[in-house]
Order: sequence, then structure tokens, then C-alpha cells
Amino acid sequence: MTQTTGSSTESIETRLFINGEFQPASDGKTFSLINPFTREPVAEVAQANEEDTNKAVAAAKAAFPAWRDLSPSDRGAYLHKLAALIRENIGEFARLESLSTGKPVSRYIDGPAAAETFSYFAEAGWTAQGSSSLNTPGHLGLLVKQPFGVVACIIPWNVPLAFFAFKVAPALAAGNTVVLKSSEKAPLTSALAARLIEKVGFPPGVVNVISGFGTPAGSTLASHMDVRCLSFTGSSFTGQKIQTAAAESNMKVVHLELGGKSPALVFDDADLESAAQQTSLSIQFFSGQTCMANSRVYVQETVAEKFLALFKESFGAGAILGNPLEPTTSHGPQVDQLQYDRVKSYLAIGEKEGKMSMGGDAENGLFIKPTVFENVPEDSRIVKEEIFGPVVVINTFKTEEEAIEKANATEFGLYASVFTKDIDRAVRASKLLEAGTVGVNCTSPFKLNDLPFGGYKMSGIGREGYMHSLDAFLETKTIIIRASS
Ligand code: NAD
Repeated sequence: MTQTTGSSTESIETRLFINGEFQPASDGKTFSLINPFTREPVAEVAQANEEDTNKAVAAAKAAFPAWRDLSPSDRGAYLHKLAALIRENIGEFARLESLSTGKPVSRYIDGPAAAETFSYFAEAGWTAQGSSSLNTPGHLGLLVKQPFGVVACIIPWNVPLAFFAFKVAPALAAGNTVVLKSSEKAPLTSALAARLIEKVGFPPGVVNVISGFGTPAGSTLASHMDVRCLSFTGSSFTGQKIQTAAAESNMKVVHLELGGKSPALVFDDADLESAAQQTSLSIQFFSGQTCMANSRVYVQETVAEKFLALFKESFGAGAILGNPLEPTTSHGPQVDQLQYDRVKSYLAIGEKEGKMSMGGDAENGLFIKPTVFENVPEDSRIVKEEIFGPVVVINTFKTEEEAIEKANATEFGLYASVFTKDIDRAVRASKLLEAGTVGVNCTSPFKLNDLPFGGYKMSGIGREGYMHSLDAFLETKTIIIRASS
């Protein structure tokens, strides 16, 4: 436990949660969490080492048989209670995330999303079903679904509680036990969730929550021989490392939800006002720090001037910079000095290679203003790489073919959008755009809970969603029963 020294003196949880008990790291090490708005220390957080991580996996392994053998309703009862406690604590979750990451409390969608997800999966365990076959004479064949055993979950800092739920809820509903590693930039909401898990009374070891860095805590999970499945959300760079570690250890099943450089195509027949309003919100939301933000907008040349004016007006008006704890603030600082410096390095590249027609460094702590670059060469790094800031490149196109070609000229493929009133064009574009989600006259962060979310190409492997996540945490077994006829 630690005292916040920032905006509150209330005590907050900062320890590891292993085998149902809160504990410091075995070597007593902690890391400092800095508030990106005040730039003052928020907390000293326990830093899991290899020994702690191994201990968490061992606890999950020991808890597995009894958890697996509960009925889905019995497991679901724990998830229902957790959903209710998350709902009761949404204000505190929002405050903690704001202190750690600068996320405006006015934009805190993580808490409601997490509560809904636990509620959904509390009921979903019964749908883990297989099929059967009498096609082979003298035999009954059964296909059954079974949990993996120990599942590791590694989450990022931008929407942490939602990712906690998207992974932990289906993994538990399927009968697995879990070790979750939170992000070193946003450990407090996962630690509070662990407190609620303790309050619910989950059997010890069923859920273990550790805080710490990619190495050693995350890398130990990725190469652990007792972890049978690993669900990861984060950068493509880290995803590659995890996939390599999995291949070189026990070939554990790996799900990867990775980065993006999502395009939005705006055609001359589109409702330009709506397109401008939605695309500007997409890149402004959480100061551009969302995986699916439309960081590239391609607008048809004939309407470019009009669209740009509408976009800039909406982008500027939507971003109220300020203290993320104030309910009127909609645009917080970048998450930390590292991310701020990274965004600034891309601003410098953009200024050299294109035209910055709006925004730039706010010269106020870690804030970056809503920023627009125009006329940037397609091979520029600011067109190709994920910036993870409120920075959009708006380029033009002449024909539909050119628009699709430019949109697809990336290794990412998370989300793409097309704004047009022509249904034939919308269908053609939806078919050709290389992305896990295509929005027609809508864009991110809008997504559908009951359909799969995930990436083409280097944006990921596997899909998440109410109807899809349970299966991702289940093995498939064929049972053959010989019977005399
Ligand atoms: P990151 O890859 O730096 O870190 C993510 C997590 O991985 C952290 O918990 C970190 O400690 C851990 N990690 C780092 N190195 C590791 C290693 N070698 N082995 C195991 N774990 C390791 O990403 P981030 O900066 O936290 O998050 C931002 C990134 O996440 C962006 O690229 C964003 O696009 C992506 N993201 C994707 C989605 C999606 O659904 N596709 C959603 C949100 C964020």
C-alpha cells in the first residue's frame, strides 16, 4: 500500500496479488509512477521479478483443477459479483487512471466497458460446446472444448481496465486460471481490480495480478513452460518479441492485439460535416493514444478544402486541454515524457516533409495540441509509423482506386473507414480495404461488442469480442468411443 502524493491522500493498492494475497516484490523493489499532468510522483509500485512471476504462475497452476471443475454457473457467480463491484467503483477507477496516464475523467469509458464484459461472460460459460458424430460405423465421436490451464494476459496502458476485462473475463469463464501483468505506466486500476477480486472471494490463485516491466515480468510469462495460452494487447514491436518467446519455449497459443495506422477515406459525395466530426474525434480521443485512431485521412481532391476547414474546426473545438481530473477537460497530456518526446520527434519529421497546418507542441507540460499535416509524401515516416498522439496526416486522392491503394499501403490493418453515400462504392471499399474492421460512414473508436475485433497484417493475430473470445481460451479435443453395434 502507498499514499498518493498527487491529488489525493487516500491510500491506494500498489502491491502484487499472488495466490489470493497482496505482497511486495520478493526483493522489495518498486518503481515510481509519475502523474503526467502535475509531473509529481503518484505512487511507488511493486516491481515483479522473475521469482514473483514464477510464483504467480505456480499459484494459477495449482488453482486450475478445482476452478476447471466448477460448473459455468458457479464460476459465473464470481464474475457477476466482480462486475457489480467494478460498477460501484467506476469513479475511483477513473481517478486512478487520470492520475497515472492523464486520461480525462470525462472520457473514461474503460470502467463501464469492463463491468459489462464481466456481466456478459458471467453467463457465457455454458456456450463452451462442441459437436458429435456417428458417421464412422461402430464409433461415437465427440468434439469437446476444454480450458488451456494457465493463461497469461499482458495489457497496455491506454485502456487498461477494459483490456483487463476483455481477457480475464472470457479466460475465467472458459475455466482457465490467470496471471495478468499490468502496464508499468498504468498499474493502479489493475491493482484496484485485484482488491475487488479479493473482496469477491475468488479461490486463491484463480486470478493473480502482477505489476512490473516488460522484462523480466512480461518476458518470463511469454517464455514460461506452464503458461499454455497468452493474450497480449500492445505494440506490434512487443508482439513480435512475445511470439518469438512463445515459439522458442512451449509454443503456447498467442493472441495478439497490436498497433495501427488506420485510414479513413472521404469521398466527394459524403456528408462532409459528419465525416469531419467523426474523424477528428477518432484522432483526438485520449490525445490520439488509441490503437484504432484514424491517423491517416484521405480526402477526394474536389472537396479537400471544404473538408479540411470542417475537420480543423471540429478537431480544435473538441479538444479542451486541461487538468484531466476536471470534468470539462477532453484532452489530457501524453502519457509520459517518453511518449511526449516520441510524438515531438514525429512532429519534427512532419515539419520537414509536409505542411503542418494546425497544432504542434502546446509548450505546456506534456500536452500536444490537435495537429494536422497536409501534403505529406506517402513514404514519409509520419504516414507509415504509429505516432500514438493527436497527429493526423490529411492527404488527397483523385480516384477510388488510388484511395484504396494508398489506404492499404501499410503493414498495419486494424480499422479502416469509408465515407460515401454511394452504396456500391461502400461495398467495393469494404471488400478491398485490408483491415479487421471497416466502418462505412462511421469510424473508430466505435465498434460492435458482439462482432470480432482484431487486426489484419501486423495489427494482430486472433479476434476479441463477446461471441469470439470464449473460444479463443478453449482447446479442442476429439473423443472416439468404440461401440459394438
Ligand atoms: P507496449 O508493447 O510497449 O507494452 C504493452 C505491454 O507489454 C506492457 O504491459 C509491457 O510491460 C509489456 N511488455 C513490454 N515488453 C515485453 C516483453 N518483451 N515481453 C512481454 N511483455 C512485454 O505497448 P504500450 O505502449 O503499452 O501500448 C500502446 C500500443 O498498444 C500501441 O501500439 C497500440 O496501438 C497498441 N494497442 C492495441 C490495441 C488493439 O486492440 N489492437 C489496443 C490498445 C493498444
